[in-house]
Amino acid sequence: MKVTEHLERAKNPLFSYEIVPPPRGRSVQDIIDIVEALKPVHPAWIDVTAHSSSAYYNEKEDGTIERKIYKKRPGTIGICGIIQNRFQIDTVVHLLCLGFSKEETEDALLELNFLGIHNILALRGDGPNYKKEISKSRSANYYASDLVEQVKALNSGKFLDEIEGGSKFDFCVGVAGYPEKHFEAPNLKLDLINLKRKVDAGADYVVTQMFFDNKHYFEFVKEARAAGITVPIIPGIKVLKNTTQLVSIPKNFYIDLPDELVEAVTKDQKNVTHIGKEWATKQVQGLLEGGAPCVHFYIMNDTNTVVDIVKKFQK
Ligand code: FAD
Repeated sequence: MKVTEHLERAKNPLFSYEIVPPPRGRSVQDIIDIVEALKPVHPAWIDVTAHSSSAYYNEKEDGTIERKIYKKRPGTIGICGIIQNRFQIDTVVHLLCLGFSKEETEDALLELNFLGIHNILALRGDGPNYKKEISKSRSANYYASDLVEQVKALNSGKFLDEIEGGSKFDFCVGVAGYPEKHFEAPNLKLDLINLKRKVDAGADYVVTQMFFDNKHYFEFVKEARAAGITVPIIPGIKVLKNTTQLVSIPKNFYIDLPDELVEAVTKDQKNVTHIGKEWATKQVQGLLEGGAPCVHFYIMNDTNTVVDIVKKFQK
Protein backbone atom coordinates (compact mmCIF):
# COMPACT_ATOMS: atom_id res chain seq x y z
CA MET A 1 0.00 0.00 0.00
CA LYS A 2 1.18 3.52 -0.67
CA VAL A 3 2.08 5.92 2.16
CA THR A 4 -0.75 8.22 1.11
CA GLU A 5 -3.22 5.32 1.35
CA HIS A 6 -1.99 4.52 4.87
CA LEU A 7 -2.51 8.15 5.83
CA GLU A 8 -5.98 8.33 4.31
CA ARG A 9 -7.19 5.08 5.91
CA ALA A 10 -5.65 5.48 9.39
CA LYS A 11 -8.05 5.12 12.31
CA ASN A 12 -5.31 4.99 14.97
CA PRO A 13 -2.03 6.89 15.33
CA LEU A 14 0.48 5.81 12.70
CA PHE A 15 4.17 5.21 13.36
CA SER A 16 6.85 4.66 10.73
CA TYR A 17 10.54 3.85 11.13
CA GLU A 18 13.73 4.61 9.30
CA ILE A 19 16.55 2.08 9.22
CA VAL A 20 19.95 1.95 7.55
CA PRO A 21 21.42 -0.95 5.53
CA PRO A 22 24.27 -2.88 7.18
CA PRO A 23 27.84 -1.89 6.39
CA ARG A 24 29.25 -3.47 3.22
CA GLY A 25 29.90 -7.15 3.67
CA ARG A 26 27.83 -7.56 6.85
CA SER A 27 24.91 -9.97 7.07
CA VAL A 28 21.36 -8.84 6.40
CA GLN A 29 20.37 -10.78 9.53
CA ASP A 30 20.82 -7.59 11.60
CA ILE A 31 18.05 -6.00 9.54
CA ILE A 32 15.79 -9.02 9.84
CA ASP A 33 16.23 -8.87 13.64
CA ILE A 34 15.29 -5.18 13.62
CA VAL A 35 12.13 -5.81 11.65
CA GLU A 36 11.23 -8.73 13.95
CA ALA A 37 11.66 -6.38 16.93
CA LEU A 38 9.41 -3.76 15.30
CA LYS A 39 6.64 -6.20 14.41
CA PRO A 40 4.83 -5.93 17.78
CA VAL A 41 4.29 -2.18 17.21
CA HIS A 42 2.89 -2.71 13.69
CA PRO A 43 5.00 -0.35 11.57
CA ALA A 44 2.84 1.54 9.11
CA TRP A 45 5.87 1.40 6.83
CA ILE A 46 9.65 1.21 7.08
CA ASP A 47 12.02 3.57 5.27
CA VAL A 48 15.43 2.26 4.23
CA THR A 49 18.11 4.88 3.69
CA ALA A 50 20.25 5.16 0.57
CA HIS A 51 23.95 5.82 0.43
CA SER A 52 25.56 7.36 -2.57
CA SER A 53 28.42 5.47 -4.04
CA SER A 54 31.73 6.78 -2.87
CA ALA A 55 33.45 4.70 -5.51
CA TYR A 56 35.40 6.73 -7.94
CA TYR A 57 38.04 5.87 -10.45
CA ASN A 58 41.07 8.02 -10.63
CA GLU A 59 43.07 8.10 -13.83
CA LYS A 60 46.71 8.29 -12.83
CA GLU A 61 49.42 10.05 -14.86
CA ASP A 62 50.63 6.73 -16.30
CA GLY A 63 47.10 6.10 -17.64
CA THR A 64 46.24 3.36 -15.18
CA ILE A 65 42.96 3.54 -13.32
CA GLU A 66 43.02 3.47 -9.56
CA ARG A 67 39.90 2.61 -7.58
CA LYS A 68 39.35 4.61 -4.42
CA ILE A 69 36.61 3.82 -1.93
CA TYR A 70 33.14 2.47 -2.63
CA LYS A 71 29.62 2.48 -1.28
CA LYS A 72 29.78 1.72 2.43
CA ARG A 73 26.17 0.63 2.89
CA PRO A 74 24.79 -0.96 -0.27
CA GLY A 75 21.56 -2.94 -0.44
CA THR A 76 18.68 -0.48 -0.02
CA ILE A 77 16.48 -2.07 -2.68
CA GLY A 78 17.24 -5.66 -1.66
CA ILE A 79 16.43 -4.89 1.98
CA CYS A 80 13.12 -3.28 1.01
CA GLY A 81 12.34 -6.38 -1.06
CA ILE A 82 12.96 -8.63 1.96
CA ILE A 83 10.91 -6.51 4.36
CA GLN A 84 8.02 -6.14 2.00
CA ASN A 85 7.86 -9.70 0.68
CA ARG A 86 8.86 -11.64 3.79
CA PHE A 87 7.16 -9.48 6.45
CA GLN A 88 4.37 -7.91 4.41
CA ILE A 89 5.32 -4.51 5.78
CA ASP A 90 5.33 -1.66 3.27
CA THR A 91 8.64 -0.01 2.61
CA VAL A 92 9.83 3.36 1.39
CA VAL A 93 13.01 3.24 -0.68
CA HIS A 94 15.23 6.29 -0.39
CA LEU A 95 16.48 7.28 -3.83
CA LEU A 96 19.21 9.87 -4.32
CA CYS A 97 20.02 12.27 -7.11
CA LEU A 98 23.69 12.58 -6.32
CA GLY A 99 25.86 9.78 -7.62
CA PHE A 100 23.18 8.29 -9.87
CA SER A 101 22.47 8.96 -13.51
CA LYS A 102 18.85 9.22 -14.64
CA GLU A 103 19.37 5.94 -16.48
CA GLU A 104 20.40 4.19 -13.26
CA THR A 105 17.43 5.73 -11.51
CA GLU A 106 15.06 4.46 -14.18
CA ASP A 107 16.55 0.97 -13.82
CA ALA A 108 16.08 1.15 -10.05
CA LEU A 109 12.44 2.17 -10.52
CA LEU A 110 11.84 -0.81 -12.83
CA GLU A 111 13.40 -3.11 -10.24
CA LEU A 112 11.21 -1.64 -7.50
CA ASN A 113 8.13 -2.14 -9.61
CA PHE A 114 9.04 -5.83 -10.12
CA LEU A 115 9.37 -6.17 -6.35
CA GLY A 116 5.98 -4.57 -5.74
CA ILE A 117 7.50 -1.56 -3.96
CA HIS A 118 5.62 1.63 -4.73
CA ASN A 119 6.95 4.15 -2.23
CA ILE A 120 9.94 6.37 -2.75
CA LEU A 121 11.53 9.16 -0.77
CA ALA A 122 13.18 11.40 -3.37
CA LEU A 123 16.33 13.02 -1.99
CA ARG A 124 19.25 14.97 -3.32
CA GLY A 125 21.91 13.43 -1.07
CA ASP A 126 24.87 15.30 0.36
CA GLY A 127 27.86 16.72 -1.44
CA PRO A 128 30.74 15.16 0.48
CA ASN A 129 29.55 11.66 -0.45
CA TYR A 130 29.14 12.56 -4.08
CA LYS A 131 32.34 11.26 -5.53
CA LYS A 132 31.10 9.12 -8.35
CA GLU A 133 31.65 10.82 -11.67
CA ILE A 134 28.80 10.53 -14.11
CA SER A 135 29.84 10.54 -17.74
CA LYS A 136 28.94 13.79 -19.47
CA SER A 137 26.97 11.83 -22.03
CA ARG A 138 24.50 10.68 -19.37
CA SER A 139 21.90 12.78 -17.66
CA ALA A 140 21.54 13.36 -13.93
CA ASN A 141 19.09 14.81 -11.45
CA TYR A 142 20.50 17.68 -9.41
CA TYR A 143 17.75 18.69 -7.02
CA ALA A 144 15.22 16.40 -5.40
CA SER A 145 12.53 18.18 -7.46
CA ASP A 146 14.22 16.83 -10.64
CA LEU A 147 14.03 13.31 -9.26
CA VAL A 148 10.36 13.75 -8.34
CA GLU A 149 9.75 14.87 -11.93
CA GLN A 150 11.49 11.78 -13.31
CA VAL A 151 9.45 9.40 -11.14
CA LYS A 152 6.19 11.14 -11.95
CA ALA A 153 7.02 11.10 -15.67
CA LEU A 154 7.54 7.34 -15.43
CA ASN A 155 4.20 7.09 -13.62
CA SER A 156 2.61 8.49 -16.73
CA GLY A 157 4.52 6.05 -18.96
CA LYS A 158 7.33 8.40 -20.04
CA PHE A 159 10.61 6.50 -20.13
CA LEU A 160 13.90 8.30 -20.83
CA ASP A 161 13.87 6.72 -24.28
CA GLU A 162 10.71 5.92 -26.12
CA ILE A 163 9.76 2.32 -25.32
CA GLU A 164 7.14 0.43 -27.21
CA GLY A 165 4.57 -1.18 -24.92
CA GLY A 166 6.13 0.35 -21.79
CA SER A 167 3.87 0.19 -18.73
CA LYS A 168 2.68 3.06 -16.59
CA PHE A 169 3.77 3.04 -12.96
CA ASP A 170 2.21 4.07 -9.70
CA PHE A 171 4.89 5.36 -7.36
CA CYS A 172 4.00 7.43 -4.33
CA VAL A 173 6.74 9.99 -3.78
CA GLY A 174 7.74 11.65 -0.53
CA VAL A 175 10.28 14.44 -0.11
CA ALA A 176 12.29 15.91 2.77
CA GLY A 177 11.35 19.10 4.64
CA TYR A 178 13.40 21.01 7.19
CA PRO A 179 11.56 22.72 10.07
CA GLU A 180 14.82 24.43 11.08
CA LYS A 181 15.65 24.98 7.36
CA HIS A 182 18.09 23.11 5.13
CA PHE A 183 21.66 24.09 5.96
CA GLU A 184 22.34 25.51 2.49
CA ALA A 185 19.20 27.64 2.30
CA PRO A 186 19.67 31.32 3.17
CA ASN A 187 16.42 31.31 5.13
CA LEU A 188 13.28 29.28 5.77
CA LYS A 189 11.23 31.32 3.31
CA LEU A 190 13.48 30.38 0.38
CA ASP A 191 13.73 26.80 1.57
CA LEU A 192 9.93 26.61 1.54
CA ILE A 193 9.85 27.96 -2.00
CA ASN A 194 12.12 25.05 -2.93
CA LEU A 195 9.98 22.62 -0.96
CA LYS A 196 7.00 23.84 -2.95
CA ARG A 197 8.94 23.13 -6.17
CA LYS A 198 9.11 19.48 -5.06
CA VAL A 199 5.40 19.39 -4.31
CA ASP A 200 4.56 21.13 -7.58
CA ALA A 201 6.69 18.48 -9.35
CA GLY A 202 4.30 15.90 -7.90
CA ALA A 203 5.50 14.96 -4.39
CA ASP A 204 2.67 13.33 -2.44
CA TYR A 205 3.90 14.03 1.09
CA VAL A 206 6.72 15.56 3.11
CA VAL A 207 8.65 13.97 5.97
CA THR A 208 10.69 16.27 8.14
CA GLN A 209 14.22 16.32 9.36
CA MET A 210 14.39 15.47 13.08
CA PHE A 211 13.65 18.18 15.64
CA PHE A 212 13.57 18.11 19.42
CA ASP A 213 11.17 20.98 19.98
CA ASN A 214 7.67 20.44 18.57
CA LYS A 215 7.25 24.18 18.16
CA HIS A 216 9.54 23.96 15.10
CA TYR A 217 7.25 21.39 13.47
CA PHE A 218 4.01 23.26 14.10
CA GLU A 219 5.47 26.57 12.89
CA PHE A 220 6.86 24.84 9.81
CA VAL A 221 3.48 23.30 8.97
CA LYS A 222 1.87 26.73 9.37
CA GLU A 223 4.44 28.40 7.12
CA ALA A 224 4.24 25.58 4.56
CA ARG A 225 0.45 25.89 4.38
CA ALA A 226 0.80 29.67 3.96
CA ALA A 227 3.23 28.97 1.10
CA GLY A 228 0.59 26.84 -0.64
CA ILE A 229 1.95 23.40 0.32
CA THR A 230 -1.10 21.26 0.99
CA VAL A 231 0.27 17.68 1.13
CA PRO A 232 0.63 15.80 4.47
CA ILE A 233 3.71 16.78 6.49
CA ILE A 234 4.99 13.91 8.65
CA PRO A 235 7.18 14.82 11.63
CA GLY A 236 10.47 12.92 12.01
CA ILE A 237 11.92 12.47 15.50
CA LYS A 238 14.85 10.75 17.14
CA VAL A 239 15.41 9.59 20.71
CA LEU A 240 18.49 11.10 22.35
CA LYS A 241 20.63 8.25 23.74
CA ASN A 242 23.95 9.60 24.96
CA THR A 243 25.85 12.79 25.75
CA THR A 244 27.97 12.53 22.58
CA GLN A 245 24.82 13.30 20.61
CA LEU A 246 24.64 16.75 22.24
CA VAL A 247 27.43 17.62 19.81
CA SER A 248 26.92 15.16 16.94
CA ILE A 249 23.23 15.84 16.30
CA PRO A 250 23.51 19.62 15.85
CA LYS A 251 26.73 19.12 13.86
CA ASN A 252 25.39 16.49 11.49
CA PHE A 253 21.79 17.59 11.12
CA TYR A 254 22.04 21.38 11.52
CA ILE A 255 19.37 21.56 14.22
CA ASP A 256 19.17 23.02 17.73
CA LEU A 257 18.68 21.06 20.92
CA PRO A 258 16.37 22.79 23.43
CA ASP A 259 17.98 24.28 26.61
CA GLU A 260 15.78 22.21 28.88
CA LEU A 261 16.88 18.92 27.29
CA VAL A 262 20.57 19.87 27.22
CA GLU A 263 20.45 20.96 30.88
CA ALA A 264 18.68 17.79 32.00
CA VAL A 265 21.19 15.57 30.22
CA THR A 266 24.22 17.53 31.38
CA LYS A 267 23.09 17.45 35.01
CA ASP A 268 22.27 13.75 35.04
CA GLN A 269 24.60 12.07 32.58
CA LYS A 270 23.98 8.57 33.93
CA ASN A 271 20.32 8.79 33.01
CA VAL A 272 20.52 10.04 29.45
CA THR A 273 18.61 7.06 28.07
CA HIS A 274 15.73 7.66 30.46
CA ILE A 275 15.71 11.42 29.86
CA GLY A 276 15.81 10.94 26.09
CA LYS A 277 12.97 8.45 26.21
CA GLU A 278 10.77 10.68 28.38
CA TRP A 279 11.48 13.62 26.10
CA ALA A 280 10.57 11.69 22.96
CA THR A 281 7.40 10.35 24.62
CA LYS A 282 6.30 13.92 25.34
CA GLN A 283 7.11 14.91 21.78
CA VAL A 284 4.97 12.08 20.40
CA GLN A 285 2.10 13.02 22.73
CA GLY A 286 2.27 16.66 21.63
CA LEU A 287 2.54 15.83 17.94
CA LEU A 288 -0.43 13.48 17.97
CA GLU A 289 -2.53 15.93 20.00
CA GLY A 290 -1.55 18.66 17.53
CA GLY A 291 -2.85 16.61 14.60
CA ALA A 292 0.34 15.15 13.06
CA PRO A 293 -0.68 12.52 10.49
CA CYS A 294 1.97 10.00 11.64
CA VAL A 295 5.19 10.02 13.67
CA HIS A 296 8.33 8.90 11.86
CA PHE A 297 11.20 7.60 14.01
CA TYR A 298 14.83 7.78 12.98
CA ILE A 299 15.80 4.62 14.81
CA MET A 300 19.32 4.09 13.48
CA ASN A 301 18.69 0.38 13.99
CA ASP A 302 18.16 0.59 17.76
CA THR A 303 14.64 -0.63 18.40
CA ASN A 304 14.14 -1.17 22.16
CA THR A 305 13.53 2.40 23.27
CA VAL A 306 11.32 3.25 20.34
CA VAL A 307 9.21 0.12 20.78
CA ASP A 308 8.67 1.02 24.48
CA ILE A 309 7.59 4.54 23.53
CA VAL A 310 5.22 3.50 20.76
CA LYS A 311 3.54 0.83 22.91
CA LYS A 312 2.28 3.65 25.15
CA PHE A 313 0.28 5.03 22.24
CA GLN A 314 -1.14 1.78 20.95
CA LYS A 315 -4.02 -0.12 22.51
P1 FAD B 1 16.71 19.41 -2.21
O1 FAD B 1 15.26 19.44 -1.99
O2 FAD B 1 17.18 19.24 -3.61
O3 FAD B 1 17.30 20.74 -1.59
C1 FAD B 1 18.70 20.89 -1.37
C2 FAD B 1 19.03 22.37 -1.18
O4 FAD B 1 18.89 23.04 -2.43
C3 FAD B 1 18.11 23.13 -0.21
O5 FAD B 1 18.86 24.10 0.43
C4 FAD B 1 17.06 23.75 -1.13
O6 FAD B 1 16.51 24.92 -0.53
C5 FAD B 1 17.90 24.07 -2.37
N1 FAD B 1 17.15 23.97 -3.63
C6 FAD B 1 16.24 23.02 -3.99
N2 FAD B 1 15.80 23.23 -5.24
C7 FAD B 1 16.44 24.33 -5.69
C8 FAD B 1 16.42 25.06 -6.90
N3 FAD B 1 15.65 24.67 -7.92
N4 FAD B 1 17.22 26.12 -7.01
C9 FAD B 1 18.02 26.52 -5.99
N5 FAD B 1 18.07 25.88 -4.79
C10 FAD B 1 17.29 24.80 -4.67
N6 FAD B 1 20.63 11.52 2.65
C11 FAD B 1 21.14 10.39 2.12
O7 FAD B 1 22.25 10.42 1.57
N7 FAD B 1 20.44 9.19 2.20
C12 FAD B 1 19.24 9.09 2.78
O8 FAD B 1 18.64 8.02 2.81
C13 FAD B 1 18.66 10.27 3.34
N8 FAD B 1 17.44 10.24 3.93
C14 FAD B 1 16.89 11.40 4.40
C15 FAD B 1 15.60 11.37 4.95
C16 FAD B 1 15.00 12.53 5.43
C17 FAD B 1 13.60 12.48 5.97
C18 FAD B 1 15.73 13.75 5.40
C19 FAD B 1 15.12 15.01 5.97
C20 FAD B 1 17.01 13.80 4.87
C21 FAD B 1 17.60 12.64 4.35
N9 FAD B 1 18.88 12.65 3.77
C22 FAD B 1 19.41 11.49 3.25
C23 FAD B 1 19.68 13.88 3.73
C24 FAD B 1 19.48 14.69 2.43
O9 FAD B 1 20.03 13.99 1.34
C25 FAD B 1 20.21 16.02 2.65
O10 FAD B 1 19.57 16.77 3.64
C26 FAD B 1 20.47 16.86 1.40
O11 FAD B 1 21.40 17.88 1.77
C27 FAD B 1 19.24 17.58 0.84
O12 FAD B 1 18.37 16.71 0.29
P2 FAD B 1 16.92 17.22 -0.25
O13 FAD B 1 16.30 16.09 -0.91
O14 FAD B 1 16.19 17.93 0.82
O15 FAD B 1 17.43 18.29 -1.35
